[in-house]
Amino acid sequence: MDHQPIVKPPLDQFSVPPNLDNWKTRRAAHNWDAVRAELDGLPNGGGLNLAHEAIDRHANNTPDKVAMRWVTAAGAVEDYTYADMKRLSNRFANALRDLGIQKTDRVFVFMDRTPELYAAVFGTLKNLSIIGPLFSAFGPEPVRDRLQHSHARVLVTTPALYKKVGQIRADLPHLEHVLLTDHGVTVPEIPGTQPLDTLLDAASEEFEIPPTAAEDWSVMHYTSGTTGKPKGAAHVHSAVLGHYLTGKYALDLHPEDLYWCTADPGWVTGTSYGMFAPWTNGVTNIIYAGGFGARGWYRVLQDQQVTVWYTAPTAIRMLMKAGTAVVKSFDTSALRFMASVGEPLNPEAVLWGHEAFGIPFHDNWWQTETGMIMIANYASQDIRPGSMGRPMPGVEPAIIQHNEATGKYEAVVEPGVEGDLAVRPGWPSMFRTYWEDQERYASRFKDGWYLTGDRARRDADGYFWFVGRSDDVINTAGHLVGPFEVESALIEHEAVAEAGVIGKPDPIAMEIVKAFVALKDGYAPSDSLRNELIGFARRKLGPGVAPREIDFLPSLPKTRSGKIMRRLLKARELGLPEGDTSTLEDD
Ligand code: AMP
Repeated sequence: MDHQPIVKPPLDQFSVPPNLDNWKTRRAAHNWDAVRAELDGLPNGGGLNLAHEAIDRHANNTPDKVAMRWVTAAGAVEDYTYADMKRLSNRFANALRDLGIQKTDRVFVFMDRTPELYAAVFGTLKNLSIIGPLFSAFGPEPVRDRLQHSHARVLVTTPALYKKVGQIRADLPHLEHVLLTDHGVTVPEIPGTQPLDTLLDAASEEFEIPPTAAEDWSVMHYTSGTTGKPKGAAHVHSAVLGHYLTGKYALDLHPEDLYWCTADPGWVTGTSYGMFAPWTNGVTNIIYAGGFGARGWYRVLQDQQVTVWYTAPTAIRMLMKAGTAVVKSFDTSALRFMASVGEPLNPEAVLWGHEAFGIPFHDNWWQTETGMIMIANYASQDIRPGSMGRPMPGVEPAIIQHNEATGKYEAVVEPGVEGDLAVRPGWPSMFRTYWEDQERYASRFKDGWYLTGDRARRDADGYFWFVGRSDDVINTAGHLVGPFEVESALIEHEAVAEAGVIGKPDPIAMEIVKAFVALKDGYAPSDSLRNELIGFARRKLGPGVAPREIDFLPSLPKTRSGKIMRRLLKARELGLPEGDTSTLEDD
């Protein structure tokens, strides 16, 4: 540890007593049945339904409390109470039912942050269909891959975003209904689409949620791997136990909080912590429709009196760049707790938070597959800057290594040793499959451990420290990008013979997507071809996924079996030792 810990005051000095008052005793006393008892359950033993616990439970108890405060980029505000959210999601559930959409059918949303998105998510969950959120900055190809693979029957989108879908529609034979909405503006008549508002107007405000089993499907998020297309990590309704408890302990949510999560709803943080954790904890959730900008964001913190803020390292580093003086020119004194996820949070960023806002950022770790925060820095606990924190109550992570003698993965007991970060299965929000790919799912479990794909260390006091990923997946601005998807898009260009894609370290975005391309005979490297390829990839993949840099090479290093050696491309790019090249193909 290179930095001094940030020491937290005694409990009686907190203005709001932290929910997790003592990490050790809360962990020792943890039991998921007790958490279940804090939730409601559907009437007549109907089980845990995510939408009921997040919305209807509060609509029944505190109907007039503001659930969602929607803030536009221009600063206009619309409030939706828990009762409003219940009515809106009931209407959506009825609209789905009227269309004949059934339990387990896949319903996708491809939308910016508008109130209709949230009604669609909870309406889908009430109908026991599976909700699949898509990042609105995706280009047509990632959208096609996901809708095609999941056999989505319904897509809810806007006229503007439908432009990306129209061109791939012929590839989506399972997509029966495209519902268009534009936040109250009449949508144009587009063949193959229907106006959502017309369906909602005809739908009843009353909806009885069917009995929901613990293992009924709820949410599906596609996530990128090293090889192949993205995989649909599918979750179940009883995951709500984890959303609720982590909201309470890791984000320290109290019902009176004004909470803001900056994550896009197309990614898992945007659902688990943009919707499920805050609403199961009964807070007022601020939804800001605007994009990133230091002043715009500080204005939200100030004007909305945000008390708990959950954001990401790339954004924090961009805020740092804008300078401390900008923060100080706003009144952010309502802030009580700040947290960060998605990439390693550098110690400087933790300390900068402390200096600029008077409170530090609390890093936490989890991933699409875990569905909830697994390791966290808690309000009541000292922070070791650079560490992801300590395990949540009810979660058993470990550093594991392969023991050559026994042939098994085993937990490393000594502190300070680097190994694979693994978790004992059994936490409620664990993904239950990769959709239609049980084999790949099974490959993530070894010898009684779930392998996260990350490398880490644990210190003597149980704090975990991130080391890196054990695969080629790229983390750019907190979003995972699979190199294979980018390579596949590039080789569709007529000039490209082969492509290899790596994550290149970047001071702000952690990594940027960099491609190496070998051209077909008859094509010569040039700046204009480079720009053309970048534009080509952006149109197909969207700006967050497409490569930012492209280098031309006469040929790419490959193994004798013909696999592109990304590891070698990366080592050469960074001027690092090339490691074992015994499998390298002869030139
Ligand atoms: P995703 O599944 O897209 O949410 O990405 C999860 C991955 O992001 C993890 O497996 C890590 O590689 C990385 N990640 C998430 N949170 C952290 C963190 N606090 N520190 C370091 N890496 C993180």
